[in-house]
Amino acid sequence: MALRKAIVAGNWKMNNLVAEAVALAEEVRSSLGQVRTVDVAVCPTYTSLYAVGKALEGSLIQLGAQDAYIKPSGAFTGEISPQMLLDVGCMWTIIGHSERRHVLGESDALQNAKTRFALSSGLKVMFCIGELLDERKANITNKVLERQLTLGLAGLSPENLENVVIAYEPVWAIGTGETASPEQAEEAHVFIRGWVAKVFGDASASQMRIQYGGSVTPKTVEGLFEKENIDGFLVGGASLKPVDFAVIVQACA
Ligand code: PEP
Repeated sequence: MALRKAIVAGNWKMNNLVAEAVALAEEVRSSLGQVRTVDVAVCPTYTSLYAVGKALEGSLIQLGAQDAYIKPSGAFTGEISPQMLLDVGCMWTIIGHSERRHVLGESDALQNAKTRFALSSGLKVMFCIGELLDERKANITNKVLERQLTLGLAGLSPENLENVVIAYEPVWAIGTGETASPEQAEEAHVFIRGWVAKVFGDASASQMRIQYGGSVTPKTVEGLFEKENIDGFLVGGASLKPVDFAVIVQACA
């Protein structure tokens, strides 16, 4: 368990029509709306952001988007800008989720441009990194993490980093039911924190919150959160089940 304030975010991915998203947000609000010791955020799909934001108004639960483009407006069909996300009440955006990288084929350079533009626009960023199963088997996990960090966070200042959370999400653990062991996750988190110290300095490293993501459930959360460098969770599947999500948050409280 770390000294930093934990942050738990639900990534709802491409799930829920507006009414379903609002109902889920209301359940999350009634169980967690007054939790102060953990930062709690939910990241619905774009079409539900405004309605979910309204449903969460007056609670402590923060609103996040799942991605944000690199321009404020213009001829970018299908994209959405940080300014639009701020307009509907977002505080956060996820950037670099493995599904953007590996399903949609987005590069490290694009994640960097998105991160920089989101931050300069006033959003906070949950920046996701993580290795594929083949990369872990080939013993190149740290190399992959280092590349994603070096290219993805290039050009940021230590001040910028205050508005960044890093999410370590091994791709083989996302949506598979195969959670990384606390030792595997901690090893990666230690590497990530060491990289932040090397590039941005010790103060940034000790403040940086590093979430773990990948099949976190009420059963696996406690063992993970006991680790010193695990500062919270980015939760996919279990965040769609309000009771499970509440247990995960309470484990960090
Ligand atoms: C995610 O998509 O960020 C994630 C961690 O998903 P899951 O919890 O379902 O593995």
